[in-house]
Amino acid sequence: MNDDVKSKYLKAGSIAAKVRDQAVEMLKPGTLLLEVAEFVETEIVKLGGKPAFPVNLAIDSIAAHYTPHSEDTLRFNPGELVKLDLGVHVDGYIADTAVTVEIATNKWADLIRAASDSLDMVLDSITPGIQVRTLGSIIERTIHSRGFEPVSNLTGHSLERFNLHAGVSIPNIDDESIADLKPGMAVAIEPFATNGAGRVAGRKSGNIYKQLRVKETNDSELDALVKEIHDEFHFMPFPERWVAKRVEKSEKMLKRLLRHGILATYPILSEIKGGMVSQSEHTIIITSEGSIVTTR
Ligand code: MN
Ligand code: MN
Repeated sequence: MNDDVKSKYLKAGSIAAKVRDQAVEMLKPGTLLLEVAEFVETEIVKLGGKPAFPVNLAIDSIAAHYTPHSEDTLRFNPGELVKLDLGVHVDGYIADTAVTVEIATNKWADLIRAASDSLDMVLDSITPGIQVRTLGSIIERTIHSRGFEPVSNLTGHSLERFNLHAGVSIPNIDDESIADLKPGMAVAIEPFATNGAGRVAGRKSGNIYKQLRVKETNDSELDALVKEIHDEFHFMPFPERWVAKRVEKSEKMLKRLLRHGILATYPILSEIKGGMVSQSEHTIIITSEGSIVTTR
């Protein structure tokens, strides 16, 4: 990794950390989810980055992939367990970070700590060349030792330019995979802990889209939107909200692009037994000596 690339990863990381910590202060009873999402995404741009994906605000047994709609009226309620997950890119170099907060109560502290402590344990253990299954094993053992289950079918992931989920997965269990972490790689590590069964499934589609291909539709209005989506989001995830700022009837346009096979949606992922879910995530760069956490 050359110095220019490294400095972009570090800049993305410091923006992500700053905005994450500010947004945590907004997670209070009565606050609109939409208000938090708008704050995060506006602040990222103010600080010189761009959102790498829409802010995920996943409540209770939802683990990921909920982002507010442009007309969303949901507000936070006392006792809710909120995963705030945000991404920043600088010229395509991504920082991905998440934290879990409960709204105005203190009943989920152990579950929150199971995820964050297992992440800290992993970050302390990383050496260049370490196998990802070793990291998964640390996460699994730490979460089990607290009496919870790791979510086995969610993983961390390597990052590449404009590519949020590049080739390597970082499991939250010992999955017996043979992949290892090499100097020059950027990876996001994200343990999830639950008091449920330890698996998530997608039950309904959410407000987050991704572009699958560039294709003509014989409709100039749609074609213009496809080009705009491509130029702006580079095949990275985007929400209905960002399209609503650009075109009228955004929902209808997006539905048509889904039917054309140009877009797909991400399903909202929920714990299969309805368990509460916590998450903690940092992005790191692997160096020849160890690692640098970009999002601390
Ligand atoms: Mn994330
Ligand atoms: Mn991630």
